[in-house]
Amino acid sequence: MYSSLCNSVYLAHFNNYTKGRNGYKICKFTPHMMAGILSGEQCAVNEFQNPNRNASANYCIGNAGDLVCNVEEENRAWTSSSRNNDFQAITVEVSNCEIGGQWRVSDKAWNTLVNLAVDVCRRYNFRLYYDGTPNGSLTTHNMFANTDCPGPYLLSRMNELADTVNTILDGGAPQPQPTPQPSTGDDKIRSVQNWLNNNYNTNIAEDGLYGSQTKKALVKGLQTELNIQFGTELVVDGIFGNQTKAACRNVKQGAEGNITKIIQSILYCKKYYLGIDGIFGNETMNVVKNYQADNKLSVDGIVGKNTFESLFR
Ligand SMILES: [Zn+2]
Repeated sequence: MYSSLCNSVYLAHFNNYTKGRNGYKICKFTPHMMAGILSGEQCAVNEFQNPNRNASANYCIGNAGDLVCNVEEENRAWTSSSRNNDFQAITVEVSNCEIGGQWRVSDKAWNTLVNLAVDVCRRYNFRLYYDGTPNGSLTTHNMFANTDCPGPYLLSRMNELADTVNTILDGGAPQPQPTPQPSTGDDKIRSVQNWLNNNYNTNIAEDGLYGSQTKKALVKGLQTELNIQFGTELVVDGIFGNQTKAACRNVKQGAEGNITKIIQSILYCKKYYLGIDGIFGNETMNVVKNYQADNKLSVDGIVGKNTFESLFR
């Protein structure tokens, strides 16, 4: 799960984090600096979706204050050079707004950091306490490794962060200055989610944000359609495994129906924008070709087993 303040979700590659928290409760908050000026999406996608990066964060906050979930809260991100800390912490990479010097962060990024910390503390029922050691609930990377992270600027504001967050938790202060309104997501993705819930009983949030739940729901839809249309007897579990791959049929120009709609939906969710109408026409074929070219698949505009696997696994 992730904070409702998120603007989007770009999950880290599974090489880059640990599933679960080994029984630990969330009781710490650990801000980091990106050592760069990036959007949340750039950090999450370019850095942490790289399977060789061996790093991730629960959240990435961009220079404009945008908030991206990178590792869902139930899992341990690899951020702070301390398993013990990260099993207990929500870790956050924050964009800088200057390279070098004090490694400052923008006011918008700061405000999002405050708001996220308040949200986390409320949901897990703890307060921020900073004493410059790993004993506090507000911890920093330099406590665990020989690193400049989180940089002089953020480090100088750790006490202030704890005070601001605790005061808001006590209801004593207004929220800090405007932070970008959490996006209400993408309307087309929301209508896909609504369609999945109505047709396949998937019971996912209709938040307009693409994440692992929506992907799983799309796979359930695909498995259901394969069972109905072709008599395959797939377990409808939302996991695209070898049996689901083997059950996939070629889908190409001229096709119409729910499988085409599911293909269009996942392409759209992956930012290959197109109409989602269940009709496999020229536009869909061209978008499929673009996707295939970008993903080193044979570029034939036909959604066959390998393209299905690339899209849904
Ligand atoms: Zn760090």
